[in-house]
Amino acid sequence: MTPPRLLHEPAGEVPVFAEVDVLVAGGGLAGCAAALAAARAGATTLLTEREGFLGGVSTATMMASIGNHYVVADGSQTIYGIAAEVVERLVTAGAAPEGWRRLKAIPMDSERLKVALIEMLEEAGVRILTHALACRPFMEGRSVKGCFLEGKSGRIAVLAKNTVDCTGEADLAWRAGVEVREHRASSSLLFKLAGVDLERFLRFLAEDEAGFPQNVDGVANLHSLVRSWREERVFFFGHHSGPKWRWLREQIAGGAYGELRRDQYGNRPWWGLAENIDAFGMYTSRQDGTLVINTGYYCFDRIDVGELSRFETHAQRLCYYAADFMKRQIPGFEKSRLEHLGAALGLRGGRHIVGRSKLTIPAYREGGTKWKCDDVIATPPVNIHDRSGFGPATNRTAEIPFGVCVPVNASRLLVGSGKSVNTDGGNYRLFRGMSGCMVFGQATGAAAALAAQRGLPSEELPVRDLQRELLRQGVRLGDPSRLRELGLDGIGNFSDDAARPGRIER
Ligand SMILES: Cc1cc2nc3c(=O)[nH]c(=O)nc-3n(C[C@H](O)[C@H](O)[C@H](O)COP(=O)(O)OP(=O)(O)OC[C@H]3O[C@@H](n4cnc5c(N)ncnc54)[C@H](O)[C@@H]3O)c2cc1C
Repeated sequence: MTPPRLLHEPAGEVPVFAEVDVLVAGGGLAGCAAALAAARAGATTLLTEREGFLGGVSTATMMASIGNHYVVADGSQTIYGIAAEVVERLVTAGAAPEGWRRLKAIPMDSERLKVALIEMLEEAGVRILTHALACRPFMEGRSVKGCFLEGKSGRIAVLAKNTVDCTGEADLAWRAGVEVREHRASSSLLFKLAGVDLERFLRFLAEDEAGFPQNVDGVANLHSLVRSWREERVFFFGHHSGPKWRWLREQIAGGAYGELRRDQYGNRPWWGLAENIDAFGMYTSRQDGTLVINTGYYCFDRIDVGELSRFETHAQRLCYYAADFMKRQIPGFEKSRLEHLGAALGLRGGRHIVGRSKLTIPAYREGGTKWKCDDVIATPPVNIHDRSGFGPATNRTAEIPFGVCVPVNASRLLVGSGKSVNTDGGNYRLFRGMSGCMVFGQATGAAAALAAQRGLPSEELPVRDLQRELLRQGVRLGDPSRLRELGLDGIGNFSDDAARPGRIER
């Protein structure tokens, strides 16, 4: 490949827009949790977001379903803090179901989430800046002392004692020269159909119950789908149902899905799938005939705007193609119409940092007594990625270390998105799931704030001080005996006996 032509960009003076204790870049769930935690810990906090709304993947893509990584198999809750508070806030607003602890995935109204996040941030005193791309860290040696932002009003600078990178793809860490790994990850565009007659669709599925895709994405069979819809008002037709759905196989074999299923626009082939419609999933918790469709996957090896643009524009065309197919072929979809395309292609991964510690999937799966860390910041359920279901299969929990958020070769910078912390690249559902991102966000925001108040770089904050603050903010760091072991007993205000509403439904 010929190297690109290089232009010299002239240097210039940039006005300082604000000076704060903590700057959080990226207003997805991780960034909102980081900013909330920082402000609640008493820091002046600015949150900058490139779009005009908050929530990141959870709102931009319409992926209105929070994986339930809050409870272990017996129903007891082990993730608390902001991650749980956001769900409760949605419940109070009528935007998520009260019985969420029983569900394998928690459906929510992602439009309401945008506003719930604004309310929470404003209550905590966070300054929100939208339409402001964090484009380059302001460095003194290895220390990140703020950031240059680019927006409609030109380039501005924010000075910060500590910064948290919640861009989802570790943009700032990468620009700061932190060692990052780019890993193969998938992306999808979602679209919303209106005018779907779900009852008619269910009757159609019942005509060939044996041909229904069994044991996909936690949905055991047609009976489970129907029960969830009737009792919980959650319609969840799992991802990757295609290969096991007899009707769809027949349609494809008969040519009804046509040729566009294959890559026609010079894009790379679909990841591991002969027909991209196989990867789709369908969800709703609404009673108004709308259904969100999660489409097929694109896979990228590195963050490259040219490649992402090709995927994005191709995916938007593909959504119409898939919607037309559904309208034409699926009973119950005859009057459907594509109402909304996701605002962005949702990226499941991208870059992750090389950090002070690394969480490997085997270590995480050990969980419980075998995997302990002195710098624990959360205790999620283990084994949540069980292929047979979305929920946890055991009562074991794992300890998540703070060190995975701390880059090794930069100072005053933490990484708060579960997509970009230092794991073995397995892109594990817990870490990059919505609750996981909020867990890392809260811990990094609190650390950045406490350190800033003491004039310390975030990475030098004594970990017990961070843990005390997390406990004060309602995070669970272990059972009483573990807390005694860590010298942290007597702080925090919840009991391990809270909320045991019963097993997760499968
Ligand atoms: C298609 C898809 C389906 C998924 N399904 C589920 C699911 O069912 N359940 C579940 O729990 N999880 C699911 N996930 C995972 C989960 O939604 C995300 O990993 C999580 O929401 C990421 O949150 P985040 O805040 O870390 O990152 P993001 O949501 O990516 O947020 C990053 C934010 O930063 C902004 N930003 C980026 N760069 C900059 C910059 N340089 N300057 C300023 N702002 C910037 C972005 O606009 C965005 O708002 C899914 C993900 C995808 C892509």
